[in-house]
This record gives sequence, C-alpha cells and structure tokens, in this order.
Amino acid sequence: MTSVHCYSFLNGDGKNKALLGGKGANLCEMTKIGLNVPPGFVITTQTCIKYLQTNTLSDSLISEIKDQIRQIEHQTGKTFGGNTNPLLVSVRSGSAISMPGMMDTILNLGLNQQTLSALITQTKAPRFAYDAYRRFIQLFGKVALNIDDEKFDVHFKQVKKDNGIIADSALTADHLKKISDLFLTVVEEETGHPFPENVHDQLELSIKAVFQSWSGKRAIDYRREFNITPEMADGTAVNIVTMVFGNMGDDSATGVGFTRNPGTGANEMYGEYLVNAQGEDVVAGIRTPKAVAELRTEMPDLYHQLVELRNKLENHYQEVQDYEYTIENGILYCLQTRNGKMNATAMVKTSVDMFNEGLINKNQALLRIDPELLEQLLHPQLTLNHNVPVLATGLPASPGAACGKCVFDADTAQRLGKAGEKIILLREETKPEDIHGFFAAQGILTSRGGKTSHAAVVARGMGKACIAGAEDIVIDIKSRHAIVGDIHIREGDIITIDGSSGHIYLGKIPTTPPKFSAELKTLLSWADEISELHVYANVDTPENAIIAANYGAKGIGLCRTERMFNAHDRLPLVIDMIISDNKEDREAALVKLFPIQRDDFKQLFEAMSPYPVTVRLLDPPMHEFLPSEQQLQDEIESLKKYITIIKAQKITLESISPNTTLPHPLDQLNEEIIQETISKKITTLKKVRDLFEVNPMLGHRGVRLGMSYPEIYQMQIRSILEAAALCIKQGTPTKPQIMVPQVITAQELTKVKEMVAEIKQEVESQFKVSLNFKFGTMIETVRACTRAASLAEFAEFFSFGTNDLTQATFSFSREDAENKFLPLYESAEILQDNPFEVLDTKGVGELMKLTVKLGREARPDISIGICGEQGGHPKSIRFCHALKLNYVSCSAPRIPIARLATAHAKLLEENS
Ligand code: ADP
Ligand code: MG
Ligand code: MG
Repeated sequence: MTSVHCYSFLNGDGKNKALLGGKGANLCEMTKIGLNVPPGFVITTQTCIKYLQTNTLSDSLISEIKDQIRQIEHQTGKTFGGNTNPLLVSVRSGSAISMPGMMDTILNLGLNQQTLSALITQTKAPRFAYDAYRRFIQLFGKVALNIDDEKFDVHFKQVKKDNGIIADSALTADHLKKISDLFLTVVEEETGHPFPENVHDQLELSIKAVFQSWSGKRAIDYRREFNITPEMADGTAVNIVTMVFGNMGDDSATGVGFTRNPGTGANEMYGEYLVNAQGEDVVAGIRTPKAVAELRTEMPDLYHQLVELRNKLENHYQEVQDYEYTIENGILYCLQTRNGKMNATAMVKTSVDMFNEGLINKNQALLRIDPELLEQLLHPQLTLNHNVPVLATGLPASPGAACGKCVFDADTAQRLGKAGEKIILLREETKPEDIHGFFAAQGILTSRGGKTSHAAVVARGMGKACIAGAEDIVIDIKSRHAIVGDIHIREGDIITIDGSSGHIYLGKIPTTPPKFSAELKTLLSWADEISELHVYANVDTPENAIIAANYGAKGIGLCRTERMFNAHDRLPLVIDMIISDNKEDREAALVKLFPIQRDDFKQLFEAMSPYPVTVRLLDPPMHEFLPSEQQLQDEIESLKKYITIIKAQKITLESISPNTTLPHPLDQLNEEIIQETISKKITTLKKVRDLFEVNPMLGHRGVRLGMSYPEIYQMQIRSILEAAALCIKQGTPTKPQIMVPQVITAQELTKVKEMVAEIKQEVESQFKVSLNFKFGTMIETVRACTRAASLAEFAEFFSFGTNDLTQATFSFSREDAENKFLPLYESAEILQDNPFEVLDTKGVGELMKLTVKLGREARPDISIGICGEQGGHPKSIRFCHALKLNYVSCSAPRIPIARLATAHAKLLEENS
C-alpha cells in the first residue's frame, strides 16, 4: 500500500486532526486562510504508528521528507545544511488531542559547524547564532539522545558563575560559544559519538525521537490520567517548521496569547511576550514575561497586527483560540493555534458574549461547554471581610480559593494528598513531571513564570486555584522553606491562596459558596428551551430544596423520609416506635412523630412550590436507626458498674455517719433512673437481635415494612396529605407525589394505594379541600422491571432507583464491590466503568428499556424518571433522553450540569 506520509502546510487538510494532529491540522488551516505561518510540513500520525511497529523510517517516507524539505527551500530561498543562507527548522510533536508539554520540541535544527558560520556571516550576529546553537545542542541532546538536562545545565551555570553573570541576557557571544563547545563534549561523552553534523541525520533522529515519545512513560501516564483512548488520539504527528527567530534583537519577540481572557472570559487582548527571546522562554517560565498591553507602546504597529491576527483567528474558528507567535525583525508569524482551554466562568461568559456578537448560534454556545466543567462554578471563594493581611501577591493564574498545608515537591504532595490532607504545592516553577502533585493539591503556587506558564495552564485545565510568578516569595525546595521578607514558611504550615486575585495569606481563611452569574443563568435558560428531560433534585431538607430551586430544579425527584428521622430531635421517637412490641405503643410513638413529619413536608412543598415533590415512604431496614449490638452491650455494662459504685458509696457513707447524704450533685444519682435506663437498653438490645438480618439490603425494608407495620406508612401518608392540605389552604400551590420503594408486585402497590385512598378522604373532609397528587413506585428490583405492565395499572409514575437496581442486576452490593473487587475489575478491564457511577446501559439499561416499554403500553401518560446517583451524569442523561424518560433527578450541586447535559442530549441526538 502506498500512502502519503507527509503533507505540506500548503495542502494538508486542516480539518483532519486524527491524521495530522491538532497542531499540524491548524498549521495547514492557518496557511490556507492566509495567515503568516512559516513554511513547513506534517508527517502523519499513521506514520508514527507504523514506525512504532517497525522501528524504522521507511525509504518512501525518507524520500517524501526530502521532497518536502526541497519545497521549503524553494519557498524560503534557504538551503538545508547550506553554507550561505541556511534553513533551520523546528521539529514539533502534536497528536489529535492536545497534551500540553507532554512531548518536547526541538528548535534550530540544521545547525552544524558549517551552517553556524554561515549564519554568523549572514546575520552578523554571532551572539544570536551561538545562542541558537547551544539551545539546539541541548534540546537535541535531551530529546533525541536522551541526555539529562542536568548534564548541560551544570556547564551553563559554571560559565555564568566563572564570569560573574546573573541574567542569561548578559552572556556574550564568546560565553555562548564556550558553552556550545562544552555541550558538544557532553554529547560525545554521553553517547560515545560526536554530535551529528549531517543535517538529514539530525532530522531523522529527531523525527524518530518524537515518534518514540508517544510511547514514553510521560505520554502514557498523561493519556491514562485524562482517559485519552486510541479512538481519540492514536500516534503523534510531527511538524517540521521553518525557524523564525524572536531572539534576533529588540525588534524581535515571542509570545503566547488567548483571543479572550481565559480567567474571566472578558473580550480583550490577553497574553504575554518577551522581547528578544525564543518561544520556550515564555512557556517555561524562565523569565517573567510582559503583559501584551505593553506591546502596544513598545511596538505599536505589531500590536495592531496582533489584534488583526486575533480577530481573524476567532472569526475563522468561531471559538476562543490559544495561539503562539513570534516576531522576527518586525515581521509577525503565527506558530500555533488551538481551542483555548478556559475555566468554567470564562467558558460561560464567552458563550453568551459570542452569541451576542453574532459569532456563534445558541446551539454552538451550549455545545462548546462540557457540562461537567460547570462543577467548577460551584467552587468556594474567599469570604470578603476576613481581615487577614495579604502576605504576598502573584499573578492570578487560575481562579478559586484554596487552603492547605505547604508542600514543596510533587511526590510529598501525592503522598499527603492520598492520606486525605489538603495541600498547596509550592514550586519555583512546575514541569510536566510534577503533574501527580497537581492532582493531589488544592492549589498551586509558583514564584516564577507567567499566566501562560506550565503551572497556570495545567491548573486552569483542572479547575484548581493557581498563583504564578509570586516573585516576592523565595521558594527554597532543598531546605523546604519559603521566605517572604522576614517570614519563614515551613513545610506543613497552612496558607490560603486566592487564584482570582493572586493574593497569598498565612493561615486558613473561611470561604463562601459562589453565586450564579447572570451569564450562567442566561446560558442555562437557553439549555432549558431545548431540553426535553426535566431536571429534578434529590433533596431531603427544606434548606437543600431552596438551594436546588435556585440552581433551577423543576421539582424534587427523591425525598428520602428516613433522613428526616435521623435528626437528633426525633431519633428518640423513632427508636421508641421501633422497639415497641405492640401496635398501641407503636402508634403512641407515631402520634408524636406525625406533626414533625407533616411540618417537614409542608416546608419542603413551600420551598419547591409550585413544582412536584416526590416523597419516598420509609425505605431502610429498621435496625439502621438503632445503635449497634456492641454499643448497647458496652453501655449496659458500664451502667451496671455505675450502680455498683453508687451502692458502695452509700454503704461507705452510712458506715461513717448514718443519716448523711451525698453532697450535691452526687445526691442526684438515682439508682432507679439508671435501672430504668438499663432495662430500656436491654429491650433495645433484644430488638436489635430480633431485627438482625444476614443480608439487610435484601431483607425487611422498603414496602415490606409498609406491609408489616402499616401504621408507619399510614402516618407518613397522612403527614404528606395534611401538609398538602395546609399548603392549599394558605394558597401555596403544590404537587405531592407519593412513592413506594422496593416494590416487586402490584399487590404491594394496591395495599398502599388503599391506605392512600382512605386517608385522602379523611383529610379532604377534615380540611375541606380537594387534594391533587400522584401515586407511583420506585423501580429498583428486577421483578418490578419485568412486571412493569401490571405495576403501571396502579402507578402514575415510575422512578428508576438505579443504585438498588444496579445492585440487583449485578447481584453485588455497592459497599462490598467498591471496597473489594471493583477496582480490580476496572483496572483489568473486566468492567469498563464503575456501574454505581456510570449507568450500566448494557445491563441495567436493558431492564430500563423493557420497563419503559411495558409501562407506557399499560399507561401511555405515565411519567418516568431516574433518581439514582447516575441521574446527574451527562452520559447517563444521554441514555435517559434516548429512552424518552420524562425527568432525571440528581443532587443539588449537579443540577446546573444536568440542565446543560439534557440540552446536549437533545442537540446531539439531532446532529447525529
Ligand atoms: P508545545 O506543544 O509544547 O507548545 P511547540 O511545538 O509549540 O511545543 O514549541 C515550543 C515552543 O517553540 C513554542 O513557543 C513555539 O512557538 C516555539 N517554536 C516552535 N517552532 C518554532 C519555529 N519554527 N520558529 C520559532 N519558534 C518555534
Ligand atoms: Mg513542548
Ligand atoms: Mg506550542
């Protein structure tokens, strides 16, 4: 098979990122739309995969490369390896998915003794030429020959030290020549061969190294961490690009920019540049760059060219771009563009702005945001009036507040993070190999580098707080110290950083939950226009219902009444109810519980008015409300000891002098009260033993409780209906929904429905209102799925309880699975996902399909939803949309995510 390995930027397909990689495709696209891109070509990702199988560059590939180089020579008038006007190139990796900083770029390739002197003659700038040369040797040595940076760095530092030089810019041509010579010796010593002089050898070795880097540890770890599958990116392309020099003097510069502010989304020029420097200098954070606004005064003409470049990029891509440019002797070149990675605030703002500017339509505005990203907007901010003085200030590189113990290296960060500690990672600057430290940290603080430094870019991508370039802080990694003025911060000391302002504080500062921005409201209202699924909330308390309503919930899909039982003012009543061994005692306890429950429901209905509130009748096994057997035994034991002590004291006292009493408060110790307590505890203990079950989750719970203790369900039904009646009376519209858990047969439903009908009549005549509510069932047993047709005769709604339904389908309990074998199942790829997090569409989903079909056949207007935890996840939401469910219900903080995801589900359905 003959396939093309290389595409010139002049004719590569700018849309084909899978084949050309993101960087390569965009270099082609930018060339096509007339932007000033240095001539070059792309070697395809397929070629990389082939190389990794065969370990050789095929003859046809090598001849294509030579053709492409000839074409560049023709375009530029330069000669590769030539002795007058030498062509130098960069060798850059780039796969279909951007993996920032994961693979290294080689710059200035094509330099050898001959081209070096040609370059000096041509530019009359020996300092520049030697600077380019020493950079090339080091980068080539590192990337293509696997030589440690350290080996070069020692020489570099030594020469600086010997000559009393601090800033790199003070190095002269002679110094740099000396450094280049030392570097050449390093290469020879480390590899046993002289530095390759032949430029084609240099190129081939570099291409191989880039290919190889795809299967290097760093890249593999990165892909695993971010779940990048071969379908998403398979192999890296290699881009060979004519070098342009930002380090040719003071009319040269290099910079990176965002077409909008990636921290706030503001529509403004954003970025940083360095005069007289090469690309990597900005990104690596070696020198702290200047804000692009300064370019306006420093090089006004180029600033305007840059504004024009920015506008062209946005108009063409209809998306915020993250771009790299270089100015060589006053000429602007664009070296890279890609869709900008921004935090959620910026994504939301730019979506709304770009729609208002007419750049994109509403569907694009919605689809460009990953629903999960919105989670960031629910991150805490510093409380406003905290009064803690600012210790130091750096660049606000990624917003949000974070607080934790200072840690000075990624390994320690990882270790402490795993142990559950909150930490802030402090570094002079970060490198790709620090990535595991980022995962473990709450926030990142660096003393060098700009807003586009590695630390800033990675933290923003992860939505973690980051302050970069805090130059007032001297970070000493070796002694694990940071010093600000005369303040010493040791490892383990707590600091707070505010990535939105760049402020750093000593100690812990309280945070406040964030507010919904106007833009987010707008965006989510667009989502609601499109969505077919309603988004409900799983909440149990009025406080959470208010939060959920503010987040845009259109109802409560699951209120677990047992959560109300657990509050400490009612747990004693609940325990009394459970331990009573006859109906009368139980009813007496229920009478006390009743008004409390009614009040709970009333408040809940008010908070969610006028939307539906689905209340699930008592579900968990009763023993869950009781103390453990061990605890009771211990308590009884110590109470008994107590009695012995009291008795002994009495005897002692009487023997000393009769008729004396114990001093206060010891005189209060009453043997009888304690005796009574003991006997109650013994009753409870007996009950705990009675209630013992081998498999409580498959035992006496759910509607089975309602069958054996109907008075409990009756009390709950009455509280719900009376609360509704009270709401109606006071003019608060409400739609209660009574939901029965753990149902397996229609007989259970009829029994509960009879209770409901009876109580409804009583309440209606008592309150003189007519009640309007729905009666329905959870679908969480396999039998309920298969019997859905007959359940639908009695149920007006179904709600999939996918936590229990998943347990029932897999026949394993969540707790045991997640603690024991599930991690192995996932890592060995026996199961792709944890089915308790990601809805198992293949198994559980099939049961859901069957249920929906049977249920709708029996009752066409039945309302069907999902209230398991998976209901808030975009993937599950797409599945529920395809099943044409009516609603998804999830925890309050996931509601914004679910609202966007339901819109995505609709839009992606139409697009496919
Ligand atoms: P990354 O994927 O890490 O961004 P790049 O391939 O973009 O790596 O290159 C690293 C740096 O080198 C960037 O700043 C880029 O602009 C610069 N660079 C790459 N190729 C050239 C070139 N041909 N001329 C000048 N600078 C270049
Ligand atoms: Mg790189
Ligand atoms: Mg780049």
